[in-house]
Amino acid sequence: MHTHELHWSILGAGAIGTLWASYAFKQGRSAALLLRDNARLEDYRRARGILATLGGSAELLPLPAQSCEEDGAPIDHLLLTTKAPDSLKALSRIDHRLSRGATVVLLQNGLGVREELLQRRPDLHCYQAVTTEGAYRPAPFQVVHAGRGQTLLGGGPNADVLANSLSVGPLDVSATEDIDAALWRKLAVNCAINPLTALYRCRNGELLDNPLALQQLHQVIDEILELGEYMGQPARFDGLREQVLAVVRGTALNRSSMLQDIENGRPSEIDYITGYLCRYASDVGLTLDTNQQLLEQVRALS
Ligand code: NAP
Repeated sequence: MHTHELHWSILGAGAIGTLWASYAFKQGRSAALLLRDNARLEDYRRARGILATLGGSAELLPLPAQSCEEDGAPIDHLLLTTKAPDSLKALSRIDHRLSRGATVVLLQNGLGVREELLQRRPDLHCYQAVTTEGAYRPAPFQVVHAGRGQTLLGGGPNADVLANSLSVGPLDVSATEDIDAALWRKLAVNCAINPLTALYRCRNGELLDNPLALQQLHQVIDEILELGEYMGQPARFDGLREQVLAVVRGTALNRSSMLQDIENGRPSEIDYITGYLCRYASDVGLTLDTNQQLLEQVRALS
């Protein structure tokens, strides 16, 4: 199949979903946003599109959109860009439209949604993607592309075709044969930084100025390295400590998404980040004390 012929439905019309949808639209690719309900679709129609700041000035893009409550054509290719804890509920709304054997690409932080989804719909072909693109939503139906990054996609035999189809504008998506390595690497970095920034309500760089936080950060990394050894895959986390410290310094002024979620009273992705790590470790017979403690503390904040 020619990659440009794929039609993507995008579920999760937030920063990342509308970023991809906006570039796809500008490039004449076929993609439609799936909004959570009819009321949201009405609001969107009043806004007349997505106000996208993709580099230059803001432009109003009349992206195609539907409501999850509407009936519509069967969905063969779905890009899922909700936050991890919202994913299953969002997917259940369009379950009846997802074709048998449809392709779903999870483009979100955290791990665990793939297993939950395949338990419910074992017929689906579920790929995963991990991105360092940066986008935010200054207001509903607005998106700002704040930082250029890279995206890796994998998890099945069609990764090349899908990566090609999702490479729109400057969004560079590459296929990888080892998406697990990329996902675990990102998970490990998130486990080290995000819960601590949420607990101490601080910017990433401020973790370095707080001796207790810094000690916990090193303990989180020690435990992940121990898990790598225990899994018989020590190379999986090679250079993790240096990488975490480089990310903390490189994003010193950033407020992590977990901190923002906690401050805005939204559910955080903790159960799919530190929670996934602790569940995985426990299944192989390891307890990660510091990670477990951070998991419980951040859960208590939510
Ligand atoms: P976001 O702006 O909060 O977008 C999430 C979207 O999901 C919202 O538009 C929300 O709809 C929608 N949603 C939630 N429940 C839904 C439901 N039941 N039905 C339909 N839609 C539903 O989040 P984001 O920043 O795009 O992040 C998405 C994922 O990418 C997260 O895992 C995040 O960690 C990851 N990520 C983000 C960035 C970034 O720069 N933003 C970078 C790397 C990774 P409403 O608008 O109606 O609330």
